[in-house]
Amino acid sequence: MIDRACISLNNICNLHCRYCYFQRSGYIVDSPALNEESAKAILENIVDYSSTLSLPVFKIGLVGAGEPLLSFDLLKYIVEWAEQNDHAQLLSFYTITNGTLVTEAILDFFLIHRDRIALNFSLDGYEELHNYGRMAFDKVMAAIALYKKVLGEYPRINCTVNRQTINNKENTLAFFKANDLNHINFSEIFDCDDSNLTISHQDYLDFLDYIAKDGAIVFRQSIKEKHYDCQKYGRLCGVGRTNIFITAQGIYPCGRFYKNETYKLGEYDTPLALHEKTMIQKLRPTQNGACYYDMYIVKKEIQK
Ligand code: SF4
Repeated sequence: MIDRACISLNNICNLHCRYCYFQRSGYIVDSPALNEESAKAILENIVDYSSTLSLPVFKIGLVGAGEPLLSFDLLKYIVEWAEQNDHAQLLSFYTITNGTLVTEAILDFFLIHRDRIALNFSLDGYEELHNYGRMAFDKVMAAIALYKKVLGEYPRINCTVNRQTINNKENTLAFFKANDLNHINFSEIFDCDDSNLTISHQDYLDFLDYIAKDGAIVFRQSIKEKHYDCQKYGRLCGVGRTNIFITAQGIYPCGRFYKNETYKLGEYDTPLALHEKTMIQKLRPTQNGACYYDMYIVKKEIQK
């Protein structure tokens, strides 16, 4: 049963980060974004599906191929639509920003709707490390400080674990601890061919062990939980089981399949029950913590 979706609001970004998969794939800018009408159709569809199946919650990431705060008006529309129409509180949202567009007015919105949507920040560590793979460290830190001022606590951080993180793991951990950033989602870098950044999945798991042993950082990932989401976030692959990636161009199994017509499950406004049917017919879920995309797409590319 599908119980989580990423909704890609747009295909635009104000940064050009070195390891950004969507930038390198050429998906930024060349595709139409969602609008209020399409967003409403998607939300109604999810609410219908979730209530028919009596799901306790449907988790939605307003994340995708671009920077979500560049579509803040649409994000606002989505959250306000949920407040007005989803009285059973089925829909629970989060978004992840690159931290460069955050203002006090935006944070006031997240304060008012803090029970409905969480705002996470992408931050890979101290200045040199963050700016190696991403950009604008100073702006991100200033935005995090503003978040603390408005919401009274530090936000959850999304940190992409790459070769530089692992080579500097002591300094990375010390940085997060020194800045009281204790709630972090560590994700594994993927689809990057820069040998200064690439790591194996085992490198990533070893890094998570290192963080866990220290004990100061709270992080959600544990493959022992058998929680379906994404292997690159330390969980089990939810492709063919629980996940979908929704864009104006259609619905895909996860963000890495974006624009792969072979794996497209349908249009954004097709009822979710039909997507589930197509998903079950098209995809055989992976076992034992493997990544579907790595197994069936990357391997095939390598064998060619
Ligand atoms: S296919 Fe790979 S990247 Fe996509 S959800 Fe599964 S584990 Fe994550």
